[in-house]
Amino acid sequence: MSLNRVMTAAVAMLAALSVAGAASLILLTTFLHRTTESMGSSVEGVRLAEALQVDLLSLFRLSDSLLRIPADSSRSFEAIESNLRLHLDEARHNAWSPEEQALLAEAERTISGYLLARESVAQLPPEQAARQLGPRLEVALAALDRLVAFNVNEARTIQLQADRWDQLANIGGICVAALLVLGGGALLWWLRHSVFRPLLDMSRAMRRFGAGRKRTRAPEAGPLELRDMARTFNEMANSLARQQEEQLTFLAGVAHDLRNPLSALKMSAALVTSGRPIPEERMQKTMALVRRQVARLDRMVGDLLDATSIEAGRFELSLEERDARELATSVVELYQAGGSSHDLRLQVPEEPVLLSCDAMRVEQVLHNLVSNALKYSQGSSRVDVIVAREGEEAVLSVVDRGIGISNEELRTLFTPFRRTGPARDKAPGVGLGLSVARRIVEAHGGRIEVESRPGVGSTFRVRLPRAHAAVQPARPGDATPSPADTVH
Ligand code: ADP
Repeated sequence: MSLNRVMTAAVAMLAALSVAGAASLILLTTFLHRTTESMGSSVEGVRLAEALQVDLLSLFRLSDSLLRIPADSSRSFEAIESNLRLHLDEARHNAWSPEEQALLAEAERTISGYLLARESVAQLPPEQAARQLGPRLEVALAALDRLVAFNVNEARTIQLQADRWDQLANIGGICVAALLVLGGGALLWWLRHSVFRPLLDMSRAMRRFGAGRKRTRAPEAGPLELRDMARTFNEMANSLARQQEEQLTFLAGVAHDLRNPLSALKMSAALVTSGRPIPEERMQKTMALVRRQVARLDRMVGDLLDATSIEAGRFELSLEERDARELATSVVELYQAGGSSHDLRLQVPEEPVLLSCDAMRVEQVLHNLVSNALKYSQGSSRVDVIVAREGEEAVLSVVDRGIGISNEELRTLFTPFRRTGPARDKAPGVGLGLSVARRIVEAHGGRIEVESRPGVGSTFRVRLPRAHAAVQPARPGDATPSPADTVH
C-alpha cells in the first residue's frame, strides 16, 4: 500500500464529508427559514381571522340595543368597520395557498353580506333587525372559523414536517460524526502500525549504523514509500560496507605493493652506503634498479593522487590542438628507449589526426595502456600501438598478446582498486590506472573499449572526438560510467 494513496484517499474522504455536511447544513437552514415563514404566516392567518371575528362581534354589539349594553362612545361604528376592512386587507396579503385564498374569499363574501344586511335593517326596530342580522353573523363567523381551522392545520403540518427534518438531520449528523470518528481512528491506527513503527525501526537502524554497527540493515516494511526508503538505505549501507571492504583491500594492496620497491631501494641504499668498493658495472645495475623502483613508486603515487583529485572533483583539463600521431609516437619512443624487451610497434596514418585535448593527460592514458600491455604479456611478445581515424573519431589502440582478461573480470575492469586475479600475482600496481584513464577519456568526450580473451591477449581502444568534431569537455567527476565501455 502506498502512503501517498492512503493519504489522498483520507483527505478526499474528509473533503467529501465536509462538502456533504456543509451542503446539508445549507439545505437545512434554508428549509428552517421556509418553515419559520410558513409557520409565521399560519399564526398570522389565525390572528387575523380571530381579529375579524372580534370586529364582526363588536359591530353586532354596537347595533344590538336589545342587549342593553351601552355602546362604546370612543369606538364608533365607522372606526370598527374600517378596522375590519384593514384586517381583511392584511388577511388577503397573508394568504398564500390557493386553499386559504378560497376560504378567505368565502369569509369576505359572508362579511360583505352581513355588512349589506346590517345597512338594510338600519331603519327596522332593533329586535327585528337583530333577528335578521343574527343568522348572517353566524354564517360569517363560521366562515372565519373555517379559516382559523385551516391555518391551525397548516401550522401543525409544518411542525410535523419540521420534526421529520429534525430527525433526519440528527441521524445525518450522527452518521457523519461516526464516519469521521471511525475514519480518523482507522487512519490513526494504520499510521501507528504501518507508518510510525517502520519509521522508528528505520531510524533505529540508521542510528545503529551511524554508531558503527555496519551490519545493521533497516527492515523493509510499511507502505511503498517507506519500503523504498529502507531499500535505498540498505543499498547505501551495502555499498558503504563494500567500499570500506575495498578500501581495506586497497590499503593492504598498496602497503604490499609499496613494500617491494621500498625494500629494493633499501637494499640498494645499504649497498651504496656500506663503504665497500663497488665495481662500476654493479653500481650501474644498482642505479638502474633504483631508477626503475622510483619510477614505479612515482606511477603508483601519481595514480593515487589522480584518483583522489578525480573523486574530489578537482580535475581540470587544459585543452590544446594536438596530433594524436605525435602523442602516440612520444609514448612509444619512451618505452623503446627504456630498453623494453617487447616487440613494441607503432602504426600511424599519413594524414594528421587532430585532437582538442589535454596532451599530458592523453599521454598518461597511453602510458597506462602501454605499460599494462607490457606488464601483462611475455617479455618478447609483440605489442602494437595503432593510431587511426574512424569517421569523426580518432582511435588509439594498444594490442597485446598477453595473459588476457576473462569476461567476468572485464565487468569490473574499470572499477577503482580492482585488480584481476592472475595480474595481481604477475605485476605490481594499485588497480587505479584504468579507472583514471577512463575518467580522463570521458572528460574529453570519448570512451574506452576493451576486447580480450584469456591466454590470447587484449585490445584497448581509446575513442576520442577529432578536433573539428570535439565536444565540450565534461568534468571527470560528472562522467557516468557506460556499460558500452567494454566490448567482449
Ligand atoms: P594496475 O595495473 O595498477 O593494477 P590498472 O587499473 O591499470 O591497475 O589495471 C587494472 C587491472 O586490469 C590490472 O590489475 C589487470 O588485472 C587488468 N589489466 C589491465 N590491462 C591489462 C592487460 N593488457 N592484460 C591483462 N590484464 C590487464
